[in-house]
Amino acid sequence: MEILKYMKKHGHEQLVVCTDPSVGLKAFIAVHDTTLGPACGGCRIWPHKTEEEAIEDVLRLSRAMTYKSAAADLSLGGGKALIIADPHTDKTEALMRAFGRYVDTMGGRFIVTEDVGATPKDMEYVALETKHVVGLPTSMGGSGETSVMTGLGVYLGMKACAKEKWGSDSLGGRTIAIQGFGNVASNLASHLLKEEVQLVVTDIYEGALNRARDLRATIVGPDEIYDVECDIFSPNALGGVLNSETIPRLKCDIVAGGANNQLQRLEDAETLTHRGILYAPDYIINAGGIINASCEVGAKYSEARARQKTERIYDTTQRVIHIAAKEGITTAQAADRLAEERIEAVRSVRRA
Ligand code: NAD
Repeated sequence: MEILKYMKKHGHEQLVVCTDPSVGLKAFIAVHDTTLGPACGGCRIWPHKTEEEAIEDVLRLSRAMTYKSAAADLSLGGGKALIIADPHTDKTEALMRAFGRYVDTMGGRFIVTEDVGATPKDMEYVALETKHVVGLPTSMGGSGETSVMTGLGVYLGMKACAKEKWGSDSLGGRTIAIQGFGNVASNLASHLLKEEVQLVVTDIYEGALNRARDLRATIVGPDEIYDVECDIFSPNALGGVLNSETIPRLKCDIVAGGANNQLQRLEDAETLTHRGILYAPDYIINAGGIINASCEVGAKYSEARARQKTERIYDTTQRVIHIAAKEGITTAQAADRLAEERIEAVRSVRRA
């Protein structure tokens, strides 16, 4: 991989390599774009097999954060950290604190929060070494569990799609097929059930399925979920689930879920459009988590403020759908355009 060439092509500003052999730390911090503010993003802990794979992952994820925060109207840029380690066996206090010291050396240019493989406890260790950390437990004055606001945002994004597709944002009587019933989906379901929807759920973890059964959801197998006759298909597990094999099988009007990077390729959004399926861009409707964490930056966290900002996802989703219709592009392209236009506008203000 030609790192500098890749960074130039995708507009990255910085890649920091962090190492501390005494505690087994091997990590990267990627800063994609700080036009809108300090780069903010999660720390992923994952046992990548090669450094190249890890670098590509952290660069790609940092760029996605730039777009997510820009479209959510946050004063944050995009960044991400990645520690090469097995989150089940390799994490220690020393490892997390060593990582925290590297975050601190960046002097606030990068603000870290949780991501896959990291827990609130890990962030507490990081916080012992740097103040540039958000998403801390509420007991420490932080914003706490992110999936509460993520679930709310996905729900409101769904409703905005319903309004566009069916002329009313009521979801009453609709059937919603949910892939993955973890934290985000459970919070999403708590809103959906107030509207008396029918839930069809799949998961690969029995505990998650039992939670869904308690809510009287119909359970299907992991591969069957793509064939379910439903109004909305909601991916809340993995990335890459919208692809040339799965899209032809979908029997829904809307795709709206919390999972990151749902499209395997950007062109898959075109296939969805051709099939008449309205796609709610993932990073537009799953921004509740970063919105929640952003409310800790430079201010005392307020849940009411976080909720108010998350509720704007409804309007943002509608805006994206309108841009797509007006410009004759997919909603995924419209989301990127919205984010890029905001970054460019703010960049020009900075020049003034
Ligand atoms: P989670 O781990 O709590 O839940 C994910 C669920 O998906 C688990 O129950 C898991 O068993 C299930 N799953 C995994 N593979 C599956 C498969 N092949 N088929 C069906 N189910 C499968 O995670 P979460 O926090 O709920 O996040 C869900 C998704 O939303 C992830 O893609 C995450 O990156 C994204 N996301 C989460 C947040 C947040 O605030 N937690 C914010 C933005 C985006």
